[in-house]
Amino acid sequence: MERFEAIIVGAGYAGMAAAAQMPGRELLVIERYDSIVQKRRGSLGFLFPFGEQVEVRGNDLYLNGLELLVESGVRQAFRHIQIRGNRERFDLALRDPLLLINEGRLKGALLRRIRENGTRVKVGSAVREVDTDGREVTVRTSTEYSSRILLGADGVGSVVARSLRFRRDKLAILFQREVELSHLDIPADTLYLQIDDSRNLFFAFPVGDHFQASVIQIVADREVPEDLEMKLIDKVERLGGGRLLAGRNAVVRLFSPASTSYRSNVLLTGDALATYGFATITGALAMGSLAGAAINRFLAGSHYALPEYHDKWRKVSGHTTIERIRYALPILSRIEGDRVDRILKAARRPGQVYAGGANLLWHLPAILWRLFV
Ligand SMILES: Cc1cc2nc3c(=O)[nH]c(=O)nc-3n(C[C@H](O)[C@H](O)[C@H](O)COP(=O)(O)OP(=O)(O)OC[C@H]3O[C@@H](n4cnc5c(N)ncnc54)[C@H](O)[C@@H]3O)c2cc1C
Repeated sequence: MERFEAIIVGAGYAGMAAAAQMPGRELLVIERYDSIVQKRRGSLGFLFPFGEQVEVRGNDLYLNGLELLVESGVRQAFRHIQIRGNRERFDLALRDPLLLINEGRLKGALLRRIRENGTRVKVGSAVREVDTDGREVTVRTSTEYSSRILLGADGVGSVVARSLRFRRDKLAILFQREVELSHLDIPADTLYLQIDDSRNLFFAFPVGDHFQASVIQIVADREVPEDLEMKLIDKVERLGGGRLLAGRNAVVRLFSPASTSYRSNVLLTGDALATYGFATITGALAMGSLAGAAINRFLAGSHYALPEYHDKWRKVSGHTTIERIRYALPILSRIEGDRVDRILKAARRPGQVYAGGANLLWHLPAILWRLFV
């Protein structure tokens, strides 16, 4: 059985940010898909600037903790958001643009960095089970590996969390259908957001020379989903949708955060740990970096590294904000069609300009909550 100092399961943002903190270590990253940079599931790719992990420099992104420049990391900047209900419409002019990032470039830059550091990356290999006796961890794919410590960065459905019985309560299921289109009637720098009710969201926006549209539906754990495809087609047709270029689906189980962030010599990070499985891209980078630094210190003999990781992961990832939104959910879940219209009407003020544009989506529930209550 091949042995490493550390193993990371999952080459997403969190796993690669962690690996980038461990140059010179005997480190293995295991990823189930053949390609790390190719987009697989739906993700909108907006930048939520929690903390100081990511700095925007024109069209480039700079990852502070990792001292890594991602050239052309910013794909698009939106200066307007148009929010629609059934009848009402609310136009926001943003003082600071909302940024869409180039996820392929960001992942590509991270992958190059960790390979330069000497990390071994094994793609096309799904981890089936993980076990630990407290001293050594065993990882089973089609072959077996062992290590002194392991990081579960394998996303919301984490096999690591399940294998080692980290408790995560099921909250709901998120369904997403996303399409790329040759045409949509939306202005160049505008994010179009339609809210039917609190569980049905439709996003559409231009990306380079094409357009992206997606519908997201969040349902209670046992509920049968409504027809996403029909909803999407209907809304796309109303916006004059052109030729279909590509489509993707995501079905994501949403969970409460794991009962703890580590157990003996196994840690969780990113979506594998966060509430709902929404670490966010910046949050996952921050949590992963923190976990990688903690593993380094653990391997150097520190007894405090893992408890300190546990104390800090919420703060560095902006997770406290996400948890605050969660407490507003009982109120938000009462928002249906007519109420959305009433809220949009009440919120409309001519010429209104919102500051902190990139934060707006996260603040949206709080804005709605204030207006609603
Ligand atoms: C529909 C949708 C839209 C979103 N939009 C945004 C947005 O606009 N902005 C934003 O900031 N965040 C957004 N998010 C959230 C964001 O995508 C996640 O928080 C972020 O990707 C988490 O990163 P991660 O590295 O923890 O997990 P992931 O990105 O899920 O990476 C996990 C990696 O582990 C691999 N893996 C999983 N299981 C195994 C296994 N058994 N063996 C080996 N490898 C495995 C996966 O293939 C993957 O590469 C969105 C999420 C969804 C569902």
